[in-house]
This record gives sequence, C-alpha cells and structure tokens, in this order.
Amino acid sequence: MSESKRICLLPGDGIGPEITAEAVKVLEVIGAREGVRFEFDEALLGGIAIDETGSPFPEETLAKAHAADAVLLAAIGGPKWDTTDPTKPRPEQGLLGIRKALGLYANLRPVKILDALNDASSLKAEYLEGVDMLIVRELTGGLYFGASGREDGVEGAASGGGEGMRAYDTMEYREYEIERIVRVAFDAARTRGKKVHSVDKANVLESSRLWREVAHRVAADYPDVEVVDQLVDNTAMQLVRWPAQFDVMVTENMFGDILSDEASMLTGSLGMLASASLGDGTALYEPSHGSAPDIAGQGIANPLAMLLSVEMMLRYSFEMHEAADRLAAAIEAVLADGWRTRDIADASTLPQKMVGTKAMGDLVAEKL
Ligand code: NAD
Repeated sequence: MSESKRICLLPGDGIGPEITAEAVKVLEVIGAREGVRFEFDEALLGGIAIDETGSPFPEETLAKAHAADAVLLAAIGGPKWDTTDPTKPRPEQGLLGIRKALGLYANLRPVKILDALNDASSLKAEYLEGVDMLIVRELTGGLYFGASGREDGVEGAASGGGEGMRAYDTMEYREYEIERIVRVAFDAARTRGKKVHSVDKANVLESSRLWREVAHRVAADYPDVEVVDQLVDNTAMQLVRWPAQFDVMVTENMFGDILSDEASMLTGSLGMLASASLGDGTALYEPSHGSAPDIAGQGIANPLAMLLSVEMMLRYSFEMHEAADRLAAAIEAVLADGWRTRDIADASTLPQKMVGTKAMGDLVAEKL
C-alpha cells in the first residue's frame, strides 16, 4: 500500500463510541479497496476526558489533532457532566476548544433528501423533490464573537423608574473573514450545482453590506458560478417554500446557525445529518446530533450521520471523491432496500428490516 492517512478519532460520550466503531469498520473496507492505509489515533474529548484527565480538552488531544490529516468526532456530553457551577469543567468546552484551536472558520452542512426517507420530513413530499443543498456557515466571527457586555442602567433600575440595565452584542466582520468563507462556498459550488446564494441583511446591517460587496468581488473569480443575493428573512421563508432552489448557501455565523437548523428539519431525522468544519489546517468532521445519552449502550443508535461525516472527510480532506460517491451510494442503497434503525423507521418498515448500530454498519460495509 502506498498512501497512508492519519485520522484522529474522538469517540467522546454516550453513543459516540458505538458509532465510531462503525466508521472505523467502513473506513477499513474503503482503505483496502482504494489502496490507502488509514491510521487511527484515538484521543479524549468531552465528558470522558474530564473523567480521565480533569480537562474536557487535554493537551494530548490537541497534539494528536494537529498531527492528523483529519479529525473525526462522534459526540460529547451527557447528564453526568451537566453543571451550572462555572468553576467545574463542562464537555462543551472541549468542543468549542478544539474548533478554536484548529481555527475552523467554515462549517459545512449538507441537507439532502433521500428518496427512501421522503416520508420522514414535516414537509409534503412534493416540496422535497430535488433538495440537495450545502449550507456554509461562518463559524468564528459575527455576533457570537463580537464585543458584548452589560452596563448598569442610567438613573437606576427599571423597577425604580430608570432605564435599567443595558446589554449589547456586536456583529462585526473583517473583509478577510468574509472573503475566505465566501471562497469556500464558491469552491464547493464548482463541484456541485454551480450556484451560490449569499444570504445577508444588507437592507439594514452595515456588516451585511460589506458582506455583499466582498461576495461580489469574490464571485468575479468564479464566472462559471451563479450568485444570488438573498435577505435572511426571505431565505427563512424560501427554505420551506421551495427548498430545491438552493445549491450552496453561504452566510454569517448567527444567520447560519438558525438557517441550518431550519434546513436540517427538511430531512426529518437527526440521525442522518453530517457536518464538516474547515480551517486552514486539519479539518474536523462530526455528525450534527449529540451524544444521545437516552439510548447510549443499547446498540440502537443510527450510525449513518457518522458515516456521512466520513463521506465528507473523504471528499474535503482526502480528495477521494470516487470513494466518497461510493459510500454515499452504499448508504442510499441500504435505505432503498428498506433497512432502518429505530429513529428512521416508520409504520411501513418491516419488522425484519429493523436493525441496530452494528448491523447497519455491516450492511453499508457489504454494499461497498
Ligand atoms: P441529541 O442529539 O443527543 O439527542 C436528541 C434526540 O435524538 C434523542 O432522543 C436521541 O436519542 C436522538 N438521537 C440523536 N442522535 C441519534 C442517532 N444517531 N441515532 C438515533 N437517535 C439519535 O441531543 P440532546 O439530547 O439535546 O443532547 C444530549 C447531549 O449531547 C447533551 O449533553 C448535549 O450537550 C450534547 N450535544 C453534543 C453535541 C456534539 O457533540 N456536537 C451536539 C448536540 C448536543
């Protein structure tokens, strides 16, 4: 075997280790077929890292992530570590910590309706035909990272007739932050439907007017890609009115946070949604769902969002596009054959086609 790829595995908490095992299984099949040796380097993040080291994001994990060609994270968190005591470590600090340490400024979330799961959506099937979009959300700037704070009220508390406390958050973007995320979107569009919706609120916000200017400047470098400006309120509406109009959507942090959750519901199932977070170095791939503590250890978690995250890793970090296409096709074929984990089963699912985590992983591996 000629090539090797090092993957830092972060199984985390809850169902994390169960779905990670299926990702490794599938990657080994792909590696054998493609002549690529995947080397797995497991590290601690989240609750399990707190238990074993006292920190949700140990130094060793950062070193392993930096040394890897890609990071594959399952999920972190759970009631065991829930605390309102600000002096106690929390699993989520691990997640934010690794995103920050790796400088992951672009979050990519594909939303694709698989024919076999048409009925899982809350929208009627006729609105879902052809839905296959990629949401590119800016992840390290905007309202969530701008200056924020509180000040005592002028002339005292509101209860005493004064103005009361003032609280503020600031939406701020620099040109380079807009340019690099918009480029991610245009590069992705080139490999897909060649259309970018740049979503902003340029009729009201100055940061959005700069966003729009920069988006158009970048668009000039991509004459083969169509660019559409859309206001965020209109986008929220268009997502449920005519979702198939979107190919790639790019937007700032908070707009993307809200729109990507709205769009994810088009598929109707949390167990099917993958994501990639990219920066200038090692990228991180993870399912959109959490650690599902309610079903952890039962062998019934859906591993497909994790496997779809593997598909994104093959595409974006390893440029193994054919292998990624084959994995996507294998997942679709397994679903088309009627196989379901509990979360995506419905009244029409045959009892003999209900499978657990491991069996679903085996079915995908066999199709490959
Ligand atoms: P969750 O996504 O873990 O679970 C929500 C519901 O969806 C649960 O009923 C769960 O059983 C189900 N579910 C989720 N993934 C599934 C899968 N793969 N297969 C089958 N069913 C699945 O969200 P939650 O319950 O709000 O959070 C649980 C914990 O996960 C919390 O500690 C939260 O902080 C954490 N969390 C972590 C991440 C992450 O690691 N990126 C994201 C969200 C929440």
